[in-house]
Amino acid sequence: MKTDQHYGEEIHIQKALQLAPIGAFLTDIEGNCFFVNEEWEKMTSLSFDKSQGKGWLKIIVEEDLPAVESVINRSVETPHTSLVFYYRVKHPKTGLLYCKANIRSVTDEEDNSRYLVGYVQDITEEKMSENRQMELSTHLQALITSMEDIVFEIDGHLTFKNVWVHDEAILFMPKKEFLGKKIADVLGPQASMFVEVIKEVIEVGEVRDITYKHFDDSKDQWFKARIKPVIKSPDLSNYLLVLSIQDVTAEKQAELALQDIRGRLELTNQLLDVSQELSRTGGWEVNLQTQEIFWTKHTYLIYDLDETFTPALDVVNTYVAEEDRVMMAEHFAAAMFQGKSYDIELRIITAKGNKKWIRAIGTPVFSDHNKVIMLRGALMDITRKKEDELELIQARDSAEDAARAKSDFLSIMSHEIRTPLNGIIGIANLLKLNYIPEQEEYIHNLLFSADHLLQLINDILDLNKIDREQFELNYSVLNLHEQIKNIQNQFKSLADIKGLSLVSTVDDNIPRKIIADVTRLNQILNNLLSNAIKYTDKGQISINVELVKKQTEKVTVHFSVKDTGIGIPKEHLETVFESFRQVQQSTVRKQAGTGLGLAITQKLITLHNSQIFLESEPGVGTEFHFDIVFDLPTKKNRPAKREELLPEISGYARKFKDIRLIFVEDNPINVLVAKRQLEYFGIQPDCALSGPEALELLQKNKYDIALLDLHMPEMDGYALSEIIRNEYKDVHIVIFTADIMPEVRRKFAQKGVFDILNKPFFPREMLATLLKIAQVMKLKI
Ligand code: ATP
Ligand code: MG
Repeated sequence: MKTDQHYGEEIHIQKALQLAPIGAFLTDIEGNCFFVNEEWEKMTSLSFDKSQGKGWLKIIVEEDLPAVESVINRSVETPHTSLVFYYRVKHPKTGLLYCKANIRSVTDEEDNSRYLVGYVQDITEEKMSENRQMELSTHLQALITSMEDIVFEIDGHLTFKNVWVHDEAILFMPKKEFLGKKIADVLGPQASMFVEVIKEVIEVGEVRDITYKHFDDSKDQWFKARIKPVIKSPDLSNYLLVLSIQDVTAEKQAELALQDIRGRLELTNQLLDVSQELSRTGGWEVNLQTQEIFWTKHTYLIYDLDETFTPALDVVNTYVAEEDRVMMAEHFAAAMFQGKSYDIELRIITAKGNKKWIRAIGTPVFSDHNKVIMLRGALMDITRKKEDELELIQARDSAEDAARAKSDFLSIMSHEIRTPLNGIIGIANLLKLNYIPEQEEYIHNLLFSADHLLQLINDILDLNKIDREQFELNYSVLNLHEQIKNIQNQFKSLADIKGLSLVSTVDDNIPRKIIADVTRLNQILNNLLSNAIKYTDKGQISINVELVKKQTEKVTVHFSVKDTGIGIPKEHLETVFESFRQVQQSTVRKQAGTGLGLAITQKLITLHNSQIFLESEPGVGTEFHFDIVFDLPTKKNRPAKREELLPEISGYARKFKDIRLIFVEDNPINVLVAKRQLEYFGIQPDCALSGPEALELLQKNKYDIALLDLHMPEMDGYALSEIIRNEYKDVHIVIFTADIMPEVRRKFAQKGVFDILNKPFFPREMLATLLKIAQVMKLKI
């Protein structure tokens, strides 16, 4: 039972509690509330009435209730011990109230009853700020991690204060180990770079950036460090900088790649400049829509303009030399309107008045709709090339002049030599008709020497003709089997004299009729055979003709001329084909000859589109061989009949008595020789020493033949033949000339004059000509 005194004390105590600046409550050991003070009511906005019993627990956040209940139980179990606990209250006004409570179980001394005393503190504000900080730091962390950066907080003493990183793995040591350490201790030698900049940031108070490569040089990784002052406190311990590090590898690589590309572009441009300079070429482009023109550096140089000049079509056109302006404009228009490219050479006069030759190339650029929208091209300074070309043309002209002079010289010389030779041979031949026996050897030697000289002149002329490409092959149908036999017979006596055997074989499969230039084929074989006989002292000379291939219209024949003679040393195998080249062999006496035979032979074989080969061993023998492709006669392909073999003169003495002939020749020896030969054939010619003299005779008498010399003073054979052709149509003209150049033959052929008697003439040739005319005149011989 409580005494009054006690009761009074209780009242006091309750009053004191009532006034306490802290929330207070009393409950029984089951937690039933029987007292709350004013502060409690104010704090929780819950009146004592509502708080009574379990009422005070109803406002506690449900989640926190088990903890509160458990602390009540514990407090009962541990009397006189103050327990601290936290819980939240649903507050009608502020929403949530954070409470810190103290609870202790107390035993009433009088009746030993027990109850609980609790004090409650409102800690909402504290709690809120703590929460906010936590929230803030999570946000900050999230922000930083999203930036994939590392952020260090550093104080003014360059000590790491904090590290923020989304993935610790990217730090080169655990995060914790940075804290409290100085930059220099952590980064080692690399630190100085940061230290310097950080000191500068502290001094200047501004942000600084450093870009650097990964400390491990083998890694191609780049970083950007930004150092930013955050708290600029004069006390360095409180100074705060943020050092944020960002991986900028991708950007850096892109930048490097760009630099590389830029470098290459620059290099390409430099190369373009150099190559344009070297090739003296400039590029250009015209946009036909905007009329804009782009020129490369060298185009300006070509026009002698500096790069400040703005090119425009009408202005550029004025630089084209007047004579080429129309042509240029036509090509430009064709490119523009018809899409045609051009590549032309033209002359320009540059801004500085220099004359240049330009090669201009232009090509159209089409739009998707096939419309020409642009022209682009190149200009090349070809002045030097043009000048070289001109020089070359001049050089070629003078070379041609020289060749012509050489040929003219040869033509004149051959004429000059042949004319007296004509006399010599003629007279020797006349002597042959009528001589005393002691003279026979002289006449023979005379004719031999004269023939040799004539052969030499003919050879030189042949070479000259082949070199001047005036040589034409003259085709006729030929029986190769017979021809080889003829040649063999021709050389038989020569071989006999030297005691050599001369054999020939001709492949039976070779067609009997082939088309060939008989004269030239003979010339080739004659040269080879005469060499073989000349350079062989004992043994055998063999001519072998084999079929290589037969087609419907062609046949390939292999020729070989082989001897058992002195042979040709290896070192001379190449040179024997050169003109005037004779192998000097001390062991052999020098042979007659000029060294032209093989030169002509080789050229003649080349004219037949073939090649001559040579096998030789000194002391054993020599073989020359070659292939020739002959056409076979077909219906389409029927050349003129082969010239008849020259007739023997002996049967034709005095046979042409009925022919009236006028002979025009200014050289008295020629007159004498030819006259005697004609007389042998029974012709009594009227001789004239000049053109006018001949015309007089022509007026008085009637003639069947006019035998005309070409080179005469006053009126030459050309002029005279022209008059005879026009005025004495029945007279048969025969040209008598030493000039056997093909032009002469062609000139006369065009005028219908086909008979040409070479000087010096062979009696048999004269006979052949007479026989031909007699046939035309239908004379009986
Ligand atoms: P040409 O033929 O002009 O009268 P050539 O016979 O001396 O004079 P080529 O026929 O051109 O001139 O021959 C050139 C040289 O080649 C000869 O001088 C000779 O030394 C050598 N030669 C040619 N054929 C033979 C051969 N069958 N055997 C040995 N040597 C030869
Ligand atoms: Mg020879």
